[in-house]
Amino acid sequence: MEVDASALRENLGTIRASVGPQPGLVPMVKADAYGVGMAAAARVLSAEGIWGLGVATVSEGCALRDLGNAVPVVVFSPAPPGEVESAVEAGLVLTVSHADTLERLTALARAGMEAEFHLEVDTGMGRAGFDWREAAVWGPQAARAHAAGARWTGCFTHLHSADEDPSTVDEQWRRFQEALAALSLPGEGMRIHALNSAGAFCRPEYAGDLVRPGIFLYGGRSGAEAPTPRRVASVRARVVHLKNARPGDTVGYGATHTASGSERWATVSIGYGDGLPRNLSNRGWALVRGRRVPIVGRISMDVTVVDITDVEAVEAGDVVTFIGRDGEAEITVDEVAELAGTISYEILTGFTARIPRVWENVHES
Ligand SMILES: *Cc1c(COP(=O)(O)O)cnc(C)c1O
Repeated sequence: MEVDASALRENLGTIRASVGPQPGLVPMVKADAYGVGMAAAARVLSAEGIWGLGVATVSEGCALRDLGNAVPVVVFSPAPPGEVESAVEAGLVLTVSHADTLERLTALARAGMEAEFHLEVDTGMGRAGFDWREAAVWGPQAARAHAAGARWTGCFTHLHSADEDPSTVDEQWRRFQEALAALSLPGEGMRIHALNSAGAFCRPEYAGDLVRPGIFLYGGRSGAEAPTPRRVASVRARVVHLKNARPGDTVGYGATHTASGSERWATVSIGYGDGLPRNLSNRGWALVRGRRVPIVGRISMDVTVVDITDVEAVEAGDVVTFIGRDGEAEITVDEVAELAGTISYEILTGFTARIPRVWENVHES
């Protein structure tokens, strides 16, 4: 996987241009920065004037701290009870969805630790957060935790359909405002946030104090109203074997492709064990010498076969592109996702540790 740092910077700049200069940016680097490599992504993004970084888990946040990242790190999934203390110790900002977590943070603050949290408001996502209709109940609980020394520094909600139906964002924003109006917020230093990548393009007016882009930074499309991102990740492998197939020859497990005439097949050293989705078998594409060629037969764990009958002079060692550009031909991560019946997020995060991440343009020229 080649990862283009200048494309990552440019995509961040496109988000910035949409939401304007005021809100702080919190790039999401969870799941190894959507598969492209968290350490390098954090380093590149941190040089771009961001407010902080977003992760999903406490261990991801601790990994960022171990790398020496000094910016605020916010853990966006609810932390399991047993991880709250180590998160506070590491100086991570926790997001809180439950009164029990407020109690834990209060106890740690009373013990002299610097506990800081953002409170999640559930406005329709349904998987985390305090219910927006019950702010009169949890608002005072959060305020008490704050008064006891656990610093309440943010309120946010998460959008469920900004990429598919922007009108839902208006309703979620209305619910969020209804909850905020019912609170007596500590005021000074309180940060309000709601937007993911798709939201940053379809409803930039709801940017509030912080914006949390993810997929767009890494080159995935973010709804009809978003511009096309620059490609960040390209995935390539090499031809390792060639075969002249005779009519009737079959290829791969289950013998699901049969040569209809004389065909030429190239075996490429990438399979589902590397994260190439197995359901691209007999339906996906690759690029060889600037030409688009079909994947034939089932994708194996370690290799994939493509039909290169129409491409001249293919040799062992040739580079085959599964995501990216080769000459005039191109395959985007969104095309792969659609063919595989999933979303770009799952394709990118699915590439395994066997694929080296090779960063390019890390230093601005
Ligand atoms: C992953 C995540 C985001 C980023 O979403 P994208 O659709 O990738 O832009 C923003 N906020 C939260 C809470 C998230 O978990």
